[in-house]
Amino acid sequence: MFQLPDLAYDFGALEPHIDGRTMEIHFTKHHGAYVANLNNALKQAGAPYDGWSLEDLLARNGALPKDVQAAIRNNGGGHYNHTLFWTIMKPNGGGEPDGPLAQSIGATFGSFAAFKETLTKAAMTRFGSGWAWLYVDREGNLAVASTPNQDNPVFVGMGTPILGVDVWEHAYYLKYQNRRPDYLNAWWHTINWDEVSSRYEALKK
Ligand code: MN
Repeated sequence: MFQLPDLAYDFGALEPHIDGRTMEIHFTKHHGAYVANLNNALKQAGAPYDGWSLEDLLARNGALPKDVQAAIRNNGGGHYNHTLFWTIMKPNGGGEPDGPLAQSIGATFGSFAAFKETLTKAAMTRFGSGWAWLYVDREGNLAVASTPNQDNPVFVGMGTPILGVDVWEHAYYLKYQNRRPDYLNAWWHTINWDEVSSRYEALKK
């Protein structure tokens, strides 16, 4: 059975960028529901799927029983995405990465500013609910993508996300209402680049 992860900081610790009430509802209610619904779907799927990792449940979703595929895609994706999201933010975050990740961002996008513009544009232009990602593709290269709903690059075999931003309205509506650009601008001040860097270094070839 899957469980909510521990949150490494208080709900209010990302203020003023992300407000405590949004964090509390987002973590306990939204993420909590993804975990509960994922576990219910797995119970329905039965014993053959008990030992599957979360990554397998996403990447091999089409091999699951038809009647649980959608529930596991949506709720397994929700659990995966939010578990990543909490770790790539921290109090007093933001700034820019250094080391190998900074070098690769420069080599891939031209500059950190150009990368920031690319990821922000991917997040801004995601119509409706979804995510924007910095991910490591199967060749070990960095890339940016946006996916709908609770999908992510793992589903389609594109690669593994190392940084993601939730652009569902539940991630920002209490504080920012319809102003997704203001939320994104604030979110850049929360990024835990040490965490993103260590995820990158574990994946790069
Ligand atoms: Mn969310």
